Amino acid sequence: MAIKYELIKTCKQSGARLGRIHTPHGVIDSPAFMPVGTQATVKTMSPEELKMMDAHIILSNTYHLFIRPGHEIVRKAGGLHKFMNWDRPILTDSGGFQVFSLSNMRKIKEEGVEFRSHLNGDKLFLSPEKAMEIQNALGSDIMMAFDECAPYPAEYDYVKKSLERTTRWAERCLQAHARPQDQALFAIVQGGMYEDLRRQSATDLTSMDFPGYAIGGLSVGEPKDLMNKMLESTVPLLPAGKPRYLMGVGSPDALIDGSIRGIDMFDCVLPTRIARNGTTMTSSGRLVIRNAKFAEDFGPLDPECSCYTCKNYSRAYIRHLIKADETFGIRLTTYHNLHFLLQLMRDVRQAIMEDRLLDFRQDFFTKYGLFEGSRGF
Ligand SMILES: [Zn+2]
Repeated sequence: MAIKYELIKTCKQSGARLGRIHTPHGVIDSPAFMPVGTQATVKTMSPEELKMMDAHIILSNTYHLFIRPGHEIVRKAGGLHKFMNWDRPILTDSGGFQVFSLSNMRKIKEEGVEFRSHLNGDKLFLSPEKAMEIQNALGSDIMMAFDECAPYPAEYDYVKKSLERTTRWAERCLQAHARPQDQALFAIVQGGMYEDLRRQSATDLTSMDFPGYAIGGLSVGEPKDLMNKMLESTVPLLPAGKPRYLMGVGSPDALIDGSIRGIDMFDCVLPTRIARNGTTMTSSGRLVIRNAKFAEDFGPLDPECSCYTCKNYSRAYIRHLIKADETFGIRLTTYHNLHFLLQLMRDVRQAIMEDRLLDFRQDFFTKYGLFEGSRGF
């Protein structure tokens, strides 16, 4: 087995779990947030900076690396860790989500998906076998099975057919995976917003004994209550001795609410994406640095934050850089946002350790200005 989940403690107040995920490239403290490095880089951040903020693991995208530079080049470089100079754990997605969301003219068949590259229109094909070949070449610590993420909303019959195909694809991924000793393959539970379909997907996939399980197809535009309901009905069906990963979730409230429901891993482009247009997350809520009121504000972005940005630079300076389209401004907001979410997860882990995650949630939500039904960041 390439990875091992170690349960350290369950929070008596919330049921959240504190753990460690042991991988070939080191240990991940969980619940964990994974910064996203789509093109083999977390946009504008160096690996040294990611280590300074103590990211334990990053995520990279199979679809993007397959299209450019091509997985053979990454393999020749000695794998993704060497290629990008990151020696801590890496998780790669399967490419499925991007094929369905980015590419044009996709054609889904039992064999796989035919699509055109969003870069140059080249006709390409991804299948469970191809997704395994690519991820085996990339050499990520955790790889994802090739799946279809059904859109929201979607008809029951469509979601059912789609999840059944995803299960057959997962079985083919298991067969095609060439490096199970040093790379762990996670299956992805689908089923849209239908509890019985989630149950069907979870039951079928857990019977195949994957080293870990992800929950996909959530945070796709549904109300937050619905996502939490789906988590409540799905997570208890997943094996306790293996990591559980909620895909594409990264707003502060969803990280806390997901942890409370037993999730161990999260990823999202949110902190890096909003940073690039000058939106930041702070302990007292969302802060849009472009606003005129910060023009002469020489205090830090977040007075309670201990990150490199907040220790050294003012709101006025960052606002100036962002408005002048200076790359350094984007680097500073990106650094802060990632540090903010990594610190949030450190706080969540501490709260689990002390059996007070529900109290922590209450305090955080109040201070952040979150209320039930709000946007979450
Ligand atoms: Zn900061």
